[in-house]
Amino acid sequence: MFVPYNYLPYEFKNPSKILKEWKKLIKTSEFTLGTYVNKFEKTFSKYIGAKYCISTNNGTDALILCLKSLGIGKGDEVITATNSFYATAGAIYAVGAKPILCDVDSRYQIETKKIKSLINKRTKAIMPFHWAGASPEMNKILTIAKKYNLYIIEDACMGIGAKISKKSPGTFGNVNAFSMHPLKSLNVMGDGGAVVTNNKNIFNWLKKYRNHGMINRDKISFWGVNNRIQPLQAVVALEGLKKLDYNLKKRKLNADYLDKNLREISEFVKIPKRLKHHKETYALYMILCKNRNKLKKYLEKNNIETKIHYPVPLHKQKPYRNNSKKIFNLKNSENQAKHLLTLPVHQFLSKAQLDYMVKKIKYFYLKNDS
Ligand SMILES: *Cc1c(COP(=O)(O)O)cnc(C)c1O
Repeated sequence: MFVPYNYLPYEFKNPSKILKEWKKLIKTSEFTLGTYVNKFEKTFSKYIGAKYCISTNNGTDALILCLKSLGIGKGDEVITATNSFYATAGAIYAVGAKPILCDVDSRYQIETKKIKSLINKRTKAIMPFHWAGASPEMNKILTIAKKYNLYIIEDACMGIGAKISKKSPGTFGNVNAFSMHPLKSLNVMGDGGAVVTNNKNIFNWLKKYRNHGMINRDKISFWGVNNRIQPLQAVVALEGLKKLDYNLKKRKLNADYLDKNLREISEFVKIPKRLKHHKETYALYMILCKNRNKLKKYLEKNNIETKIHYPVPLHKQKPYRNNSKKIFNLKNSENQAKHLLTLPVHQFLSKAQLDYMVKKIKYFYLKNDS
């Protein structure tokens, strides 16, 4: 049996609905901004429960736009966690600011009790991310931000469709970013992203900044950039939004099934705590396991594809080490980098594939089929 990690060939196997809309779009030649982009922005902000949306080229651009819109730049510090994808810290560097990397908790989220010790007079914002499609303790982060007068920028790139007590990621911070990269919960056929905010001034500024600062074809109000989403991708995103909640339900069923079965070997495999009032997207189904590298090889030999997110935390990356004299205590993230394994959990897995995966993991540790 083969258990693929990559679900894209299954997801886009029959693209007839997308092709139909693309044909309509091609007839109109609205290849920059226009009807589909407007429609996506309206639909997306409604889905998230935010007042305004500015769609972008990708999630990294969305993060950069968030930082820019708050005037964060040279000399400023932004607190985030060390176990993210490069883009989180990369966006902070891109605006000339410095990421201050915090450790993580046992749910792989920013460790809120360590944030305070990283705040100083240069600190401008906290940038928590919804790692793996689960969420950090946003209410605690809000309390800290309020006390120290800091902005919050949520990196909700993996969090489209998640919830914390009915509130969506992207509705806690001042201005917040999402990605629609092919491997995120809402995905397009290439790159796409979005910023959401409830602040009208931020929205008005960003909408212009994303499009060269233009008021109209003949005039600009300030120098801007081009971070526009491709209308072709706005079409894909609109189709994706229709199926998103259904897909997330299937992913949750798969994750619950894996949780339940893998808890039976808790001396070898640790499942993160699932909080009752949180809905996760299971963008990544991650477990902490003994002998991770050997298990990964063993599963590979048995045609089960797995990934590691990520073997080297951001503070161990060369450009960070070269630029930072301070050494923080980031031992949880370092331990997780050695033991985390990401298993397939996508909506196209069958019960037989899930069972096969569980059986092989159990066999690896127990050497019997029970
Ligand atoms: C994917 C991701 C990004 C980057 O998004 P892109 O659309 O690939 O630019 C940033 N932060 C996190 C947490 C992500 O998962």
